[in-house]
Amino acid sequence: MTDTYLRRATVDLEAYRANLTHLQRLVAPAELMAVVKADAYGHGATTLAAVAVDAGVRWLGTLELQNAHELRASGIGDGIALFAWQYSPHESFERAVSEKIDLGLSTLAQLERVALAVVSVADALAPDAVGGAAVDVPALVHLNVDTGLHRDGASADEWEALVTRAVELERAGLLRLRGVYSHLAEASDEEDTESAGLLAAAIERAEELGAAFEVRHLTASSAGMERPELRLDLVRMGSNTYGIPVTDGVSAADRGLVPVMTLTARIARVKRIAAGTGVSYDYTYRAPRDTTIALVPVGYADGVSRRAQNGVTVALRGKRYPIVGRVAMDQFLIDVGDDPVEVGDVVTLFGPGTAGELTVGEWADLVGTIGEEICTSVGARVPRAYVS
Ligand SMILES: *Cc1c(COP(=O)(O)O)cnc(C)c1O
Repeated sequence: MTDTYLRRATVDLEAYRANLTHLQRLVAPAELMAVVKADAYGHGATTLAAVAVDAGVRWLGTLELQNAHELRASGIGDGIALFAWQYSPHESFERAVSEKIDLGLSTLAQLERVALAVVSVADALAPDAVGGAAVDVPALVHLNVDTGLHRDGASADEWEALVTRAVELERAGLLRLRGVYSHLAEASDEEDTESAGLLAAAIERAEELGAAFEVRHLTASSAGMERPELRLDLVRMGSNTYGIPVTDGVSAADRGLVPVMTLTARIARVKRIAAGTGVSYDYTYRAPRDTTIALVPVGYADGVSRRAQNGVTVALRGKRYPIVGRVAMDQFLIDVGDDPVEVGDVVTLFGPGTAGELTVGEWADLVGTIGEEICTSVGARVPRAYVS
């Protein structure tokens, strides 16, 4: 086989599809929103979104409008809801309105900009119509309430004004109240329960003010998995869909999920060194005996943290070997002892764990982070190879 790649992230589309199917069944009767922000957590949003749609997923979370537009351009029509919720302060929303993107909104300023965009899109479609009468492109709006995370959602003292204005704009035909949502801090079950109570109260108040929401959503991977009573109508899941475990001490396999990404590279150089020889920058490792070291051509520019030199192993020919010495921008070294290793041998950094390699969750634990950070850090210069 003449497969001569240097480094590669293999993305297993069958695993992704199986995870989605598993999660759809798990959260039913709630619906699953597959979150594909950050280029699908480094896996490639366009390709994965198409798989999700094919698997029957009807909601995709993109975070940014740009990503939603890219997905529409890739052929995902408006029968599939694309949910965005982070914007530039100067966002114009016109394209978002014409492409029927679902908009998570948190402030009056955003709401007004969206209303302006609707009017301008309607004008462009029917320049002779008067007022809002001809508007058949109402914006699809989800109101975001802060229930304790203290990030983007509307604060308690902003909620009534936001809802009141949204109801007004809905009555004027400029928007449709598609949803109401919040996001959990996941600090403790008790505090999440409290947040769910705050969301319920905010919905109740909004209904008194004349709002009627089509869907309510609150949970992401962790609470969506662990807290069935908080799932409401829609569960927004990213990590779970990629087979990245989100609960301490629980593996993807424990949850019936399969890690989707496998990071591999080919040995680029093999050297025999004498006992006492220092390797890589700063000589943080000196060989304790005569040994063989092998050069793996991925570094921190590819998502391998400099912290990985302390205790992280990679798999080669079914066996684990430690990363030794400093991880550099483009490469690191492993100590393979007296084992036979050749240039071109495939090294697996992390994957499903079936060839002796660490899973991304185990890798993340060893460098003191979470699997999401590892996958989203795999650099743009690492080609994604899709297998199904
Ligand atoms: C990223 C994100 C999600 C998905 O989170 P996971 O834990 O990866 O499932 C859901 N909702 C919001 C608002 C997010 O920012």
